[in-house]
Amino acid sequence: MAHVVTDKCQRCKFTDCVEVCPVACFYELDQQLVIHPEDCIDCTACVEVCPVEAIYAEASVPQEYQASIQFNSAEAQGAKTKTPFEFAVSSIRVLDGSTDGSRQLAQAIARMGQPLYQCQPPTGFPDRADHWMSNGAVVERLNFAVALSANRIPGTTVRIDDSMKSIALKLGSPEFQKR
Ligand code: SF4
Ligand code: SF4
Repeated sequence: MAHVVTDKCQRCKFTDCVEVCPVACFYELDQQLVIHPEDCIDCTACVEVCPVEAIYAEASVPQEYQASIQFNSAEAQGAKTKTPFEFAVSSIRVLDGSTDGSRQLAQAIARMGQPLYQCQPPTGFPDRADHWMSNGAVVERLNFAVALSANRIPGTTVRIDDSMKSIALKLGSPEFQKR
């Protein structure tokens, strides 16, 4: 079960809910926020601060807002962007590869914007798309995809069945950047 943001949230100017959520599971759409159903830990902190009482436990959503349950689920899925580390790991996995975690792999992840073990804020690296997907970072993701699919990262090997170009395009696609 998870908590659900209903239509009452539309065009709200307050985001108190985001500030109190201990697991950062709110996502912003054009008109309102939604909650990622797999990340919510049902702590109820957001319920208490929402000025328009827009948030309900899934089992307690009033009849007129039942559609919001599906809306939160459908919209929240895929809303998170993979961090560079997650992108690298999922790329290696999807190509049935293996790695010894070499310095060159860590350097490639750092070039994509996530120097491992060097995060300053105690809250850790964010997972918002705008943080990770600057133009320079996107180019570095494509460079990584090309290097990986060509088996040019020392200590890391992948199995190549398709053409290198099609693998690089797959890894560089917007869909593959989502969790
Ligand atoms: S405080 Fe309530 S109405 Fe405002 S953004 Fe959060 S859920 Fe929406
Ligand atoms: S119930 Fe807790 S974990 Fe779930 S969205 Fe609200 S503040 Fe976040």
